[in-house]
Amino acid sequence: VTVAERPTIPVERYADRLARASAAAAAHGVDALLAGVGADLRYLTGYVAVPQERLTMLVVRGAERPVLIVPRLEALPGRGSAAAAAGLVDVVAWQETDDPVALVAAHVPDGAVELAVSDRLWPMFLLRLEDAIPDARFSVATPIMRELRIRKDPDEIALLRLAAQAADRVVGQIAAGRLVGRTEADVARDVRERLVAEGHDQTTFAIVASGPNSASPHHEAGDRIIRPGEPLVLDIGGPLGGYGSDITRTLWVTGGDPDRAPDADFRHLYGVLQGAQEEATGAVRPGVAAEQIDAVARGMIEAAGYGEQFIHRTGHGIGLEGHEDPYLVRGSGEALEAGMAFSVEPGIYFPGQYGARIEDIVACGPDGPIELNEAPRELYVVDG
Ligand code: ZN
Ligand code: ZN
Ligand code: ZN
Repeated sequence: VTVAERPTIPVERYADRLARASAAAAAHGVDALLAGVGADLRYLTGYVAVPQERLTMLVVRGAERPVLIVPRLEALPGRGSAAAAAGLVDVVAWQETDDPVALVAAHVPDGAVELAVSDRLWPMFLLRLEDAIPDARFSVATPIMRELRIRKDPDEIALLRLAAQAADRVVGQIAAGRLVGRTEADVARDVRERLVAEGHDQTTFAIVASGPNSASPHHEAGDRIIRPGEPLVLDIGGPLGGYGSDITRTLWVTGGDPDRAPDADFRHLYGVLQGAQEEATGAVRPGVAAEQIDAVARGMIEAAGYGEQFIHRTGHGIGLEGHEDPYLVRGSGEALEAGMAFSVEPGIYFPGQYGARIEDIVACGPDGPIELNEAPRELYVVDG
């Protein structure tokens, strides 16, 4: 997918999102919502701003038009953002010698007491805002924004699917290529380039975990050389059109030597894992509690005697952020709803020996799961 043919979020969505944010804020008793640089700002305006020491802030304030406050030198991209270009928000640019915090305070409605800030706003800004608006009470906007962002609209699902399919292709390319004798870091560099070549905006992570390193879920690709007769866990992803991919596949590298094929123990472990991942995915439907998906995967892995080796939750939501609500974890009674998108990624890990994980991005459809990744889920036994 080239950038030109990539679907974008239609501008009407931003009008709708801004209106819903305003309504949700009011419903939470919040007088103004202050979104700094990050996913909330992008969600509401389409503005992909660079985090920096100069303050950028969207003020969503009841019935008044939202205002986007930007540093003067960012005025062009700020005005070019979808919501600003469509006239949905006013843009106010501040000069290097202005006090942007005072400018934000001036655009908060008179008498506003309850202010909610985006959860990634840096303390350097929040503390100054608290000083500048001493009568206000500040809270985090997460409860407001999660209501909006947790269910993806069809355009968001389309982008998540494109990202997933691009990541699928990269897994296929890596599995078909040379592996033996290369370092993990070299393969990770390869992954990074290929994700971008397949349409990603950038690569956020490229976990390449060989041999005993496969037992470490977030292993940092290093100088270890990949050898025949061992597993290789690939967990790769990044945003495409802002929406994340995140896929894990487990390979077994033989070097072309039949004596280096996976042993019966690893095959058994993998069979249990694949069954658990499939059953957990199949359990996805509206109304099912998030923790129930975790319980399905965990129950099967425990029943097979690997319970102690499954050391993390089953999944996390994904969208403009790589990890966001909902989380598929014991204790989360949140009911799944159509439009939610998340990973289903059980793993089994034997420290010092080996491990395996299978991860797909799954959307909750009206009647059941919609699997966005299509790469085969079997153990990839490759010559390498
Ligand atoms: Zn992870
Ligand atoms: Zn992952
Ligand atoms: Zn993940």
